[in-house]
Amino acid sequence: MAILVTGGAGYIGSHTVSELLDHGEEVIVLDNLEKGHREAVLAQTFIHGDVRDRELLDQIFRRYDVEAVVHFAAYSLVGDSMKDPLAYYDNNVAAAQILLTKMIEHGVKRIVFSSTAATYGEPRQIPIQETDATEPTNAYGETKLAIEKMMKWCEQAYGLRFISLRYFNAAGAHPDGHIGEDHDPETHLIPIVLQVALGQREALSIFGDDYPTEDGTCIRDYVHVMDLAQAHRLALEKLRETGKSGIYNLGSGTGFSVKQVVERAREITGHPIPTRVAPHRPGDPAVLIASSQKAREELGWRPQFEDLDTIITTAWAWHRSHPNGYRKEEMRG
Ligand code: UDP
Repeated sequence: MAILVTGGAGYIGSHTVSELLDHGEEVIVLDNLEKGHREAVLAQTFIHGDVRDRELLDQIFRRYDVEAVVHFAAYSLVGDSMKDPLAYYDNNVAAAQILLTKMIEHGVKRIVFSSTAATYGEPRQIPIQETDATEPTNAYGETKLAIEKMMKWCEQAYGLRFISLRYFNAAGAHPDGHIGEDHDPETHLIPIVLQVALGQREALSIFGDDYPTEDGTCIRDYVHVMDLAQAHRLALEKLRETGKSGIYNLGSGTGFSVKQVVERAREITGHPIPTRVAPHRPGDPAVLIASSQKAREELGWRPQFEDLDTIITTAWAWHRSHPNGYRKEEMRG
């Protein structure tokens, strides 16, 4: 029996594929490579194609004995989702609808879904719990929430079983150093800070230093990508063993400010990492910290790379050895 991983060439997808292969799973990756990287795909079976391609899904489900789907393929940039929400509804919601339709048609009833803390919007309490209100402040979060709701109704109607994992701030890289984070354009804090340390950018723009936090910069909950990968594997096991659907936060439970991240990165890289203060980024809440108690208790999730130094150190190893990401040496410049 195989696991179909959509978006397995992306950042969190590729690390999850690595984790599944390490645990003896047979993995098939489906990715359109719009954002993903062929080099990041460790699975033997790679299918270059789009989740919205109904015929392709028919072929895959006919040809392979797919036991469950892990669904990453999606757009994930808050800013872009505000400029072009329909693209997000198409690539995220419509694609998921097609995927779920084909899964049900072919009798595949287990799915682990890549969701986000952006489903909550501005938090009413910290740490955020799964039972808290979901009021997304951006179209990206809204599309992920819409898919969670779609899966809920599919459970009632067709017996689908789903686990939705709401990530906080994914960061870090595989400790082996062969896969890591490579977005174009890069918008995330830790890779940008490391690009400054590599001399690829002059300075980090800190998006606001007048938030109601101790040092005035936003606080986020950084969680290592290998710990996210572990959670996907455990979610699959949970679906197999109990057939029980659920929604789980994945975060470390500890928050770090932008300035604290920069400070740790200066120490680890030995680079001064200059910063300048820039305007707020629209839609950025001051503080986002997860309660991941439920994932620990129900999935048996045991994060292995919890402290910020480990996260930055593994990311730094990847960035130093792959200064241009997955692009080949000769394409530099
Ligand atoms: N951030 C920043 N400068 C940057 C990128 C990010 O100050 O160039 C801040 C951002 O405002 C947020 C935190 O760093 O408070 C983490 O941002 P990121 O984009 O990594 O993740 P998000 O919290 O948006 O999921």
